[in-house]
Amino acid sequence: LPATGLSFAVTFLVAVIAFGMLGLLAMAPALRTRRHSRAAVCDVCRRNHRRWVAVSGALAGLTLVGAGLRLAPLEPTVPVCPVTSISSGTSQGDLRDNREDGVGPALHRVLTGPVNGLAIAYARWQRQTLCDAHYPSTTVVLIPYAGSKCGGTFGDVFVTPCPNIDAWWTQNVARHEAKHSDQWAALTALGGIMTLPVAYAVDESMYPSSLNHFEEAAGLADGEYPPPPIPRPGPRPWALIMWCLVTVVVFRTRLRLLFRTVAGRPRSPAPERCGRHTPGW
Ligand SMILES: [Zn+2]
Ligand SMILES: [Zn+2]
Repeated sequence: LPATGLSFAVTFLVAVIAFGMLGLLAMAPALRTRRHSRAAVCDVCRRNHRRWVAVSGALAGLTLVGAGLRLAPLEPTVPVCPVTSISSGTSQGDLRDNREDGVGPALHRVLTGPVNGLAIAYARWQRQTLCDAHYPSTTVVLIPYAGSKCGGTFGDVFVTPCPNIDAWWTQNVARHEAKHSDQWAALTALGGIMTLPVAYAVDESMYPSSLNHFEEAAGLADGEYPPPPIPRPGPRPWALIMWCLVTVVVFRTRLRLLFRTVAGRPRSPAPERCGRHTPGW
């Protein structure tokens, strides 16, 4: 492979590993060409491009480390969680032995693998107890200080401070957490390993607890959340204002360019600057 072909292949892989389908989209030839032509004339674009390369590299590195930890046979098997009895007929289907067969579960494991690797490695490093819930590939980690609520899911790894994993838990909480692990898989495919935590945090800031859309989708009752108040309140005003301000700051140069276009005040680019990074409104 010629050097340019190799560097393209590496850049392409880094973008897709770091940002999933959004990374794939960003590598579209038209967008790449536009980025490169802007970076050729503009200092700020060049600096921003270097920053994106650094962020992509760090995220791709984290993802690959997680995948490596997942594949490394540190301990061949995790013991099955001490679930005493299963009473619900509906959960029997989820406990079938071929639960990991097929394209869907395989794709799910590939997508959640890096997060699982990082979470399990962290739990082992903290010398915490691990067990297999025998519910679609869920591994349970018992961490006594994991917060006041009854735990959270990282990929397929459920971190919980509650030591009693009984039949009720398997039927309800495990079903809830399995949906969170599907959310991890879907959002990792969309935008990489950090998409779910970021989207969840943004949603939680505006719609806390029972109003959180990820919790609602995973089943509030199964996750031990109270039902949401009626009428359903809107987003918290402070969080909405904060995210609007963040959006304006992030997109300020685009807004400036848009403003100039709408106002019919074209400016010729300043030296070493593209139109977007030319100062003035
Ligand atoms: Zn620029
Ligand atoms: Zn939940």
